[in-house]
Amino acid sequence: MLYSKFFIPTLREDPHSAECVSHRLLLRGGCLFMASSGIYSYLPLGLRILNKISNIIRKHMNAEGAAELFMSHLQPMEIWQKTGRDKDLSEVMIKFKDRKGRDLCLGPTHEEEITEIAKRYLSSYKQLPVILYQIQSKFRDEFRPRCGLIRSCEFIMKDAYSFDADEEGLEENYSRMLDAYNRIFKECDLSVVVATADSGVMGGSTSHEFMAPADIGEDVLFYCSKCDNYFREQGCCDKCKNDLNPKKMIELGHVFKLGTKYSKAQEAYFLNKEGKRCPFIMGCYGIGVSRIISAVVEQSHDEKGIIWPNSLAPFELNLVILDLNNKELLEQALEVEAILRTEGLTVLIDDRDEPAGVKFNDAYLLGIPYILILGKKFLNTGKFELERRKTGEKFSFSKQELIKYLKDDY
Ligand SMILES: [Zn+2]
Repeated sequence: MLYSKFFIPTLREDPHSAECVSHRLLLRGGCLFMASSGIYSYLPLGLRILNKISNIIRKHMNAEGAAELFMSHLQPMEIWQKTGRDKDLSEVMIKFKDRKGRDLCLGPTHEEEITEIAKRYLSSYKQLPVILYQIQSKFRDEFRPRCGLIRSCEFIMKDAYSFDADEEGLEENYSRMLDAYNRIFKECDLSVVVATADSGVMGGSTSHEFMAPADIGEDVLFYCSKCDNYFREQGCCDKCKNDLNPKKMIELGHVFKLGTKYSKAQEAYFLNKEGKRCPFIMGCYGIGVSRIISAVVEQSHDEKGIIWPNSLAPFELNLVILDLNNKELLEQALEVEAILRTEGLTVLIDDRDEPAGVKFNDAYLLGIPYILILGKKFLNTGKFELERRKTGEKFSFSKQELIKYLKDDY
């Protein structure tokens, strides 16, 4: 991909609206466009990162036998009246009437809607268990949107729902989802703490939160540096009696054992082995997909810009051409791109007519894990100069060595 043809509107100055590091770098790095406070568009680079995260999530959900669907953004208010959550969530719901007078809302979450789907199509224990999930936008009338994608009015979530015939089934699905979540956050290269949590407005008996330590977090856990454990309450550490330090956390995932709260309220029943009508035993499992982008940047950046982990990089290689008048350099760049494409790796070729300083500043800001420089040095020595963004390590490679190194690292 040629930079000159792609759309990466980087900013030299910090935007006035930026409230924290990730917000500033995502706006400056041409990933996001802020339409208004709490409302963002994903520009091409941001969308590539979003798609990488979504595909990691899909891989691990599908591996657990969950089936992807896509529910409507528009929801009838009557399903919310069944559970009483039209009142619980009334402050954050975006509600309106259509021209026919129907009461509708833009879905802030989808428990009610998925329960209606289960009620319609699942009638026997023989069809259970079922896990359904989607990756989709949610809408909330946030009074105080903050830090870009950390708290916004429109955001992208992965929400999964399990339907079981009994508690044992829920137990099994719940632990499968916990495992999948650990794998997802690991693959996104995020440092994450799992904590038991309050179920709040979602209801149900048990819940766990996946929290990423970061200075901008809205939640607090207490950390014991001696045994490397986190606690909900401040009191010294149970195990080593060490003093605990408060650490701010970003909530990235939350899983709930809902039990029968929704199925009973919405009369979603199935027939069990004995032919008795029973409410579905449900679990729900959320991940803040767009929030992951901000959390990764909070955990992985330096004074020059973003440092994407290999798994989320919008391109695998940023190839900077320093002398555009020399045709050989562009030919070499295109050849490297073609070879790497056959290995499933993508290359951003910086072919812009800009000074070297501007190109390097942008390369560090964008945070693609590897920067390859093609200039005088290559013409003199025939060697490719590769820089690893995260460590600043520099390598001098032949073409074969370069391809092998990148292939091995990704
Ligand atoms: Zn301890």
